[in-house]
Amino acid sequence: MMRRLAVLGHPVAHSRSPAMQNAALAELGLAGEWTYEAIDVAPDELERRVRAMPEEGFAGANVTVPHKGAALVLADELSETAREIGAANTLSFADGEVHADNTDAEGFLRALPASPHGEATLVLGAGGAARAVVWALLREGARVEVWNRTELRSRNLCEELGGSPVTAPDSSSYRLIVNSTSVGLRGEDVFAELPLSAGGFSSGQTVVDLVYGVGPSRLLATAKAAGSTVVDGIEVLVRQGALSLEIWTGSEPPLDAMRAAARGPSGS
Ligand code: NAP
Repeated sequence: MMRRLAVLGHPVAHSRSPAMQNAALAELGLAGEWTYEAIDVAPDELERRVRAMPEEGFAGANVTVPHKGAALVLADELSETAREIGAANTLSFADGEVHADNTDAEGFLRALPASPHGEATLVLGAGGAARAVVWALLREGARVEVWNRTELRSRNLCEELGGSPVTAPDSSSYRLIVNSTSVGLRGEDVFAELPLSAGGFSSGQTVVDLVYGVGPSRLLATAKAAGSTVVDGIEVLVRQGALSLEIWTGSEPPLDAMRAAARGPSGS
């Protein structure tokens, strides 16, 4: 029987995960045994939908916005990482139980060019993505400061996970800067909305933008022009997806095939 996988989101039509994961399955020679699809699930339908999936031949699922917190609550068993972050992005079904894991944190770390151990880092945002990033950086022994538009949320995040809230960061003083807000997704001006200056980047800095679209973001294009190392949201997406695929199939994920499929035919 075909083993099914899916990404559950709302909306989910824009997701690059089906193209990326089906390309990986094909590269592994598993396309005849496994398939990966996108399923739009409204929040009040999530638990019922997930509970029905094992009977329908699903072995697991990714969960994305807005379900990452709810997925944690409905699971029968949690990995320590998912529990500590407070969000799950990977579900596995076995023996009638739902196991929840989080590969966003480890995927983020694997996308970095070098370990952030001991480095001064700035995380922008205090939503679900920022939580995984802060957790990952602290686990690696980085020094973490967190800025968020709504200050109370960055204070709460740091109280829960660690790191220090910051209200007026000097972006030139960090070795690693991570945009884990949604700014840029709908064409907002990152340099107007976030405490970053277009002239403030330099070589020796790494800038990560979790937001991805068609082509490089303005944030990454600006940082790259100043000599910074840049990591885009597609690379982070690929790395978290690769870890999920490994959990489900036990096979080593073909990263290059996943990157090519996630970037699409334009190669952007
Ligand atoms: P979320 O929980 O909705 O959080 C959104 C964050 O963005 C909050 O910190 C919010 O600040 C901030 N924000 C929104 N509009 C803003 C503005 N105009 N100015 C300043 N801050 C603003 O979302 P999320 O799940 O954390 O995801 C954040 C982004 O990361 C999304 O774009 C998502 O696509 C991306 N992401 C990418 C990957 C990947 O693999 N590449 C994985 C996960 C997420 P307030 O608290 O003040 O509202």
